[in-house]
Amino acid sequence: MNQSKVLVTRELFEESIDMLKQYAKVEVYQSANKPIPNEILIDKIKEVDGIITLLTDKINEEIMDLAPKLKVISNYAVGYDNIDVSAATQRGIIVTNTPGILTETTADLTFGLLIALSRRIAEGDRFVRNREWVNAWGPKMFIGSDVHGKTLGIVGLGRIGTEVARRAKGFDMDIVYYDTYRDVEKEEKMNITYAPFSELITKSDFITLHVPLTDQTRHLISKEQFKKMKTTAYIINTSRGPVIDQQALHNALVKGNIAGAALDVFEEEPINHNSPLLELENVLLTPHIGSASVETRKKMSKTAAKNVIAVLKGEKPPNLVNPEVLE
Ligand code: NAD
Repeated sequence: MNQSKVLVTRELFEESIDMLKQYAKVEVYQSANKPIPNEILIDKIKEVDGIITLLTDKINEEIMDLAPKLKVISNYAVGYDNIDVSAATQRGIIVTNTPGILTETTADLTFGLLIALSRRIAEGDRFVRNREWVNAWGPKMFIGSDVHGKTLGIVGLGRIGTEVARRAKGFDMDIVYYDTYRDVEKEEKMNITYAPFSELITKSDFITLHVPLTDQTRHLISKEQFKKMKTTAYIINTSRGPVIDQQALHNALVKGNIAGAALDVFEEEPINHNSPLLELENVLLTPHIGSASVETRKKMSKTAAKNVIAVLKGEKPPNLVNPEVLE
C-alpha cells in the first residue's frame, strides 16, 4: 500500500504523533525550540502528503511548488499569516488552523499582562529580587494605575477579544471595541459599546489588540495613533507583532505619549537583543506565550493532527481556512 507521509516541523505532544501514525508515516523534526532549517524543509516537503507547521515556518509559493503531493498544511496556531493561503488555494492545498481551543488561555495571558503592567508587578519583582528594596514602605513606591473603573478599548472583538471583554467585565471596566464587523447583539448582551477606531484610540485607558495580521492590520497602531492616545494609556499586544509599528511605539514611550506597553509578540521574533525596548522599565515583555498552557498546547497538538487525518481520509477537516479550495 502506498502509505501517506506527514512531516511535523517541531516536537509536539506524543499523543498527537501517535494519532497521526495510525494513518501515515510520520517524520518529526526533532527540536523543541528551534525552527526547522529551510534546507531540511525544502528537502522533506518534496515527498509529503501533509505537513504540520508552526508560525515560525514560512510556507510560501516556492515551498509549495516543491511539494507535488502536498494536500494539507495544518498550522499549529489560530493565526496563519506564515502561510500564503491564496497560493495554497491555487494549488489545491488545504490549509487548516487551531481556532477556539486557545481563546481563553490567550485571553487569560492578556488580562494578566494588563494587570501586571498597570500595577507594575514585573518592575516590583525586579526591584525586590535585585535587593534594591532597602527603605521601608512608602506611599509613592511603585504606584501604578487602577484597572477597575477604567475604559478598555478592544481592537478586534473576535474569539479572544470577546473573552478579554468578559474578563474585563469582572474587573468593572467600561468596554469599547472596534472591529470591521459590528455585532449589535453582542453589544447588548455584554453591555459593551462600539466605537470608531479613532474614537477608541483617544478615549481608552487600556488598548488591547486582537486582530489577525493582514495587509490591513500591519502597523494599524503607528505614530499617528500613539499621538492621539491618552498620556496615561497602556497598550497590550497579544495578537501579532507587526500590528504595532515597534519603532513608533518606542518613540511614544520615550516621549511620554503613553504610559506603558505589554507585548507578547514582536515585529521580529525572537526580539533583537539590542532592541531599545529592552531598556525601558514601563514595558512588559513575554516570549509569545499567549497559548502556552499544558492543557491548551495538548489540545492544539491533537487538533492539528485531526485536521491532517481528516484530509488524508478524504474528509473535510474540522478547521478549514480556505473553503474555496474544495469548490
Ligand atoms: P478571530 O478571527 O476570532 O478574531 C479576529 C477579529 O478581528 C474578528 O472579529 C475580525 O472581524 C477582526 N478584524 C479583522 N481585521 C480587522 C481590521 N482590519 N480591523 C478591525 N478588526 C478586524 O481571531 P482570534 O481567535 O480572536 O485570534 C486573533 C489573533 O490573535 C490571531 O489571528 C492570532 O494572530 C493572535 N493570537 C496570538 C496568540 C499568542 O500566542 N500571542 C495566541 C492566539 C492567537
